[in-house]
Amino acid sequence: MGNLQDQDLSSRIANTLALRCVAHRLFEVSGVEDVRPAIDWSQASGLPLCPLGAGSNVVLPPELAAGVITVRDDSVSVLSETADSVTLRVGAGKGWHSLVSETLQNGFYGLENLALIPGLVGAAPVQNIGAYGRELNEFVVAVHGVSLHSGEPRSLSSEECEFAYRDSVFKHDLRDKFLISHVDFCLSKVPVVNVEYPALRSSLADGENSPTAVFEAVVALRRERLPNPDEIPNAGSFFKNPILSRKQLEKLQFIEPEVPVYPVAGEQFKVSAAWLIERAGLPGFSKGPASISEQHALVLVTNGKAYQADVRELAKHVQGVVKGRFTVMLEPEPRFYD
Ligand SMILES: Cc1cc2nc3c(=O)[nH]c(=O)nc-3n(C[C@H](O)[C@H](O)[C@H](O)COP(=O)(O)OP(=O)(O)OC[C@H]3O[C@@H](n4cnc5c(N)ncnc54)[C@H](O)[C@@H]3O)c2cc1C
Repeated sequence: MGNLQDQDLSSRIANTLALRCVAHRLFEVSGVEDVRPAIDWSQASGLPLCPLGAGSNVVLPPELAAGVITVRDDSVSVLSETADSVTLRVGAGKGWHSLVSETLQNGFYGLENLALIPGLVGAAPVQNIGAYGRELNEFVVAVHGVSLHSGEPRSLSSEECEFAYRDSVFKHDLRDKFLISHVDFCLSKVPVVNVEYPALRSSLADGENSPTAVFEAVVALRRERLPNPDEIPNAGSFFKNPILSRKQLEKLQFIEPEVPVYPVAGEQFKVSAAWLIERAGLPGFSKGPASISEQHALVLVTNGKAYQADVRELAKHVQGVVKGRFTVMLEPEPRFYD
């Protein structure tokens, strides 16, 4: 375990927006058995522990008054197998995209639509990552980890994770209280594909719908549409797609009859945050070192010299313009830390 003081998190490895940030302490653990010294430090210093992965979904402050704790275990093991399916246990420190590529190469299918999402496996259940018509919760059997207060190990079934759109119990009751050490996934050994997402379907040639074709199409679409955080610092989609009640939708449609609408469960309707931002003419808009990407309206980028306050100011501006024009409040997807 390394526990160096005043950890500079400005490097893009731990922070893809490349914000200036120094944490009080960094604990790198290889498993639940290593967590005790971090808990002791937290209790002695009175500062909280803050789990982090690759920092691709966080907006960090200049000084993070916490001990950052990160899991380095990138193991993958087979827990059980039938003729049709396999259950894998994966360490929280495994790179998400490596897992997607390796499972595909091994003939374990399902994760292809989620290719090229940055970050580590341990963070994937936190916001129930999703893309191109698939969400993580379709594959999670259980999430294992440790209480950051008592040091007690605990396992949660998929149901106990309370997965929802970009949401889970790890963003609410268990926020900063639980370190995810492993995730169990059930994947298919029989090739299965989901090509319902319109942009994905139209990028595949007729009849070309193998898991490998889906993986390659998703990688190509993402490379074309999203700025690469290694070149242009960003945290992916900066705002969630708003989910509206019928009454809210009718209000919006009165102003913008052409707004694309995707019905979700019950009387709820998802609208595209990117469409609203684009319609408001915000792509390319800058506030100091932070701007709205011209390549993708939903992505907020920095020039590598930004602070959290710059990002907050731009996000507030976008929220104000969109609310003023369309009566819809956008909610940021990445987490802002105090
Ligand atoms: C270019 C780009 C594209 C993206 N595209 C998508 C996309 O298509 N779909 C999507 O859903 N997301 C997307 N994201 C967001 C991001 O990649 C995911 O949310 C990812 O899961 C974050 O992983 P991370 O390791 O970087 O987590 P971090 O940013 O380090 O942490 C995110 C949250 O998870 C918590 N956390 C991290 N590790 C642990 C752990 N071991 N135990 C407990 N809590 C933990 C942190 O406390 C924090 O609240 C994108 C981001 C970028 C930069």
